[in-house]
Amino acid sequence: MKNFISRRNFLIKTTGAGASALAVPLLSGFAFQDKAKPGIKPVIITSHTNETGQKAMETGWEILRTGGSAVDAVEKAANIIELDPEDTSVGYGGLPNERGVVQLDASFMDGKTYSAGAVACLENIKTPASVARLVMQRTDHVLLVGAGALEFAKAWGFPEENLLTEKARKIWLRWKEEMSSSDDWGSPEHLQNLSKNESYRHDFPDIEHHYGTTNVLAIDNNGDIAGCTTTSGLSFKLNGRVGDSPIIGAGLYVDNEVGAAGATGRGEDVIKSCASYYMVLRMKDGRTPQQACQDALQMIVDRYKKVNPGYYPSEKFVAINKYGELGCAIMRGNRNPQMSVRSDKGYSRYDGTVAFPGK
Ligand code: ASP
Repeated sequence: MKNFISRRNFLIKTTGAGASALAVPLLSGFAFQDKAKPGIKPVIITSHTNETGQKAMETGWEILRTGGSAVDAVEKAANIIELDPEDTSVGYGGLPNERGVVQLDASFMDGKTYSAGAVACLENIKTPASVARLVMQRTDHVLLVGAGALEFAKAWGFPEENLLTEKARKIWLRWKEEMSSSDDWGSPEHLQNLSKNESYRHDFPDIEHHYGTTNVLAIDNNGDIAGCTTTSGLSFKLNGRVGDSPIIGAGLYVDNEVGAAGATGRGEDVIKSCASYYMVLRMKDGRTPQQACQDALQMIVDRYKKVNPGYYPSEKFVAINKYGELGCAIMRGNRNPQMSVRSDKGYSRYDGTVAFPGK
């Protein structure tokens, strides 16, 4: 293996992740392993870069460090994020659908066996990633939805719990009040004719975050690769709407021979473009994970060129190849997307690219 330091663009940057503003190494164009002489080096990544994401990485890393499997590491790391009540995009505390009901989607894939499992529209279970893993390992199916998914989870002893936190309920209620002037719901300001949008945004900045999901991908000591994507999906979605996260090939794809990829953002376009599978195919064709993420975003925009020119749906993709090279790209925005990385070199953040800056 070549000198670790010489292979990376190593910047130290202080990033404010919640209460602990830690000095976290920021990496880009980074490879853990030498392609010419691949030695196996475990690594785990997640698209979540907040404090909980970092905690999740430590949990996953401890499993990998002690010789555990990528499947175990990914599940336990994903559970940490799912159980964070403050996170309104994943698991417990996730924003509900338009009826105020939290419906969770999750997928799991084992790149060694190409086995996969997923749940969609799962209610009342805090850790859908674990249920998806059981669908993968303990059924002959890939996807269970709604009441069937809940029945399956209960059969495995998962407790039914209320997933709607007060924080999420208040955001939902405010959304409902502000959504339309032609229904009978009214915000506190509507009688005084205040500017709805201003107070709405001021009190509930989170409400603009209609998207949010986490991808967790890992390589273990044996070189086996696993991945999970878990989410509460698009907030205020129609009852029964399923996003890309539980769709194998869309929100997640893993192949031991190549690598793994995951998606967050507007799921409808990710489903229609089979984006995660596409990224893995691109890596198979020799593209780096970073290029594969960019290629997938470009592919989505190109497909709409004739029918919907100028359409840049909000997506963020992450990828890793079997050599431990990383990729992360977002469709648009003015800040580079990041993802969390944990390896034997410690915790760091990978700095990705914006595919269409200024759009
Ligand atoms: N992709 C998820 C969905 O469409 C949401 C997200 O990632 O923000 O359900």
